[in-house]
Amino acid sequence: MTDLFRALKIEKNEEGQNLNIVEISEDDLMEGNVIVDVTHSTLNYKDGLAMTGSSPIVRSFPMIPGIDFSGVVRSSEDSKFSEGDRVVLNGYGLSESHYGGYSERARVNSKYLLKLPENISNHQAMQIGTAGYTAMLCVLGLEDFGIKPENGEILVTGASGGVGSVAISLLSSLGYSVIASTGRLSEAEYLESLGASSIIDRNELSEPSKPLGKERWSGAIDSVGSQTLSNVLAQTKYGGAVSACGLAQGMDLPSTVLPFILRGVSLVGIDSVMAPMSKRERAWDRLSKDLDMEKLAQMVVETNLDEVQNFAQLILDGQVRGRVVVNIS
Ligand code: NDP
Repeated sequence: MTDLFRALKIEKNEEGQNLNIVEISEDDLMEGNVIVDVTHSTLNYKDGLAMTGSSPIVRSFPMIPGIDFSGVVRSSEDSKFSEGDRVVLNGYGLSESHYGGYSERARVNSKYLLKLPENISNHQAMQIGTAGYTAMLCVLGLEDFGIKPENGEILVTGASGGVGSVAISLLSSLGYSVIASTGRLSEAEYLESLGASSIIDRNELSEPSKPLGKERWSGAIDSVGSQTLSNVLAQTKYGGAVSACGLAQGMDLPSTVLPFILRGVSLVGIDSVMAPMSKRERAWDRLSKDLDMEKLAQMVVETNLDEVQNFAQLILDGQVRGRVVVNIS
């Protein structure tokens, strides 16, 4: 009898996209040399875009969404991986050109898989997810630039979101004083519990203003882009740095060169999707050491394969707090 398992599939016809739970076999999976029993995936902003079709994330249909997963190796043609290994995969075209994590089984290329650190469970790996791993890349971006806790406060925009929540928690564990910028002031208590020392209304940063403002923070982690990033740069202290990873407000950057040429501010670009394996290993190793797993657990809402599509529009509307774990198995 054919061994069937469940997956969420996006199909597209003239009327648009539709999402259905389907039963498939390994013959239906895409190419790769390792088969993984997926245990968990997550909902990221990009998954919201893919499932609603509001941005061209999916490059070929049908597609299984889910830009990341954790799981257990079922079989491997690569001697570097053995049955039972616990693994994680973030990005590398999942849900774009290769079937993603919303499936009980995945076949992938071993060069994209990373063995999870001992002290991170499969569940925790997806509590972190791509948003959390990206937050770590942002922190590393600031550290590599020499931004230290004693240089002054760090601003985190999109604070209640996935990247923002993990960034606040990481920075505060590392001794930085964190300003959280949010449109949800009702989440102040949540943001303080993660380690924010002060909260500002995101409206302060979302409208056009002067090319240079008062110097307020020594660095920032920005997942919002657009006018917000422009204002973040304009208020960064002399010699500071800003890790930019997102576009929740927009993909434009209506800025001037003044923060760069008059204050020596640096803009650090953060990409998680095609980041080389050495960078991923460094980020996951640091997550295993620096992330407070109790705080992480506070950020999480759980869902499953049947329900995840209900969250797609919510994350695009900025209505999801922290992280959403998709329990697959
Ligand atoms: P979330 O939706 O969880 O968080 C985004 C947060 O941004 C929201 O919670 C909200 O926070 C804020 N926000 C939403 N809309 C607006 C708006 N119009 N203006 C200002 N702020 C807004 O998403 P993630 O944290 O998962 O991802 C954040 C961004 O980072 C996305 O753009 C995503 O595509 C990008 N990203 C990029 C990666 C990379 O490799 N470069 C990897 C992962 C994510 P609040 O309510 O607190 O204001």
